[in-house]
Amino acid sequence: MKDKSACNGALHPKAIEGLKLFNEKKFFETHEELEDAWREERGEIRNLYQGILQVAVTYLHITRGNYNGAVKVYERSARWLKDYPDVCRGIFVGKLRRDAETTIKKLKSLGAENIAEFDMSLFLPVVWKEKRAWFCDRCGTEMHEKNCKVSCPNCGNRFDCSDLNIYFD
Ligand SMILES: [Zn+2]
Repeated sequence: MKDKSACNGALHPKAIEGLKLFNEKKFFETHEELEDAWREERGEIRNLYQGILQVAVTYLHITRGNYNGAVKVYERSARWLKDYPDVCRGIFVGKLRRDAETTIKKLKSLGAENIAEFDMSLFLPVVWKEKRAWFCDRCGTEMHEKNCKVSCPNCGNRFDCSDLNIYFD
């Protein structure tokens, strides 16, 4: 992206809906919300939505057993996402890039014939800090924050919000 200041500011409301659906692993619905956000957004940031949308479609293809579709759409998503900073509009784009790359490497090591054995728990959540919402990197549950102490009500995972950058690297 040419203008990094496009990373400041708020996410489109439909993008937020899309990210929540992503973390619920509802990838078809994620695609629909992010497509609306992409259509309505002006400026370069719309391509970030396009990139995340295509990660969702990659995962959707995996759940449907479409190996070639997953590999093809992943490569497209990587081209959209590669130039964004690690954090943009509060979204941890760097983490998403690494997660998607890990996912596609696992898929390739399984091979097309074994796609049905793909471990769906490898679909890690998108993390973003819009409205100080935190999502557990282990289980995807929305976490509780009090005085910068963030904890997961589902699995007990916890961290200090000031350690966040360290925590996710
Ligand atoms: Zn958790």
